[in-house]
Amino acid sequence: MNKPKRKPTVAIEEAIYSKAKAKAEEKGMTLLDYVNETLLLNVEKDDFLKRYAPYIEKINVGHTLVLRDHKINKVVEIFLKNNTLYCSHDESGDCMHIHFALAIPEIARLKIKSTK
Ligand SMILES: [Zn+2]
Repeated sequence: MNKPKRKPTVAIEEAIYSKAKAKAEEKGMTLLDYVNETLLLNVEKDDFLKRYAPYIEKINVGHTLVLRDHKINKVVEIFLKNNTLYCSHDESGDCMHIHFALAIPEIARLKIKSTK
């Protein structure tokens, strides 16, 4: 008799495990369902963004989010201004770069500029 095939598993870092477990509980989901759903959505969103804005590429994120727009062949910076995202190129809070910025998970790592 064949043994049932072992399901693939991945190791999760302890700090991430705690955060994910808390989030799963908050949403009333099992950790397994939460992790699988989150991972799948991320992969699908990545594919979606490649179709939606194939000409925008994420370069870096720190105090600003740096994007390269291959359509205009320019580097564009997104930053927080009065708690609103702002695009240096369009001098606007509502452009394709802002839409792109809000759609990538890395936006969570955008640091808030200290205002002196
Ligand atoms: Zn823009």
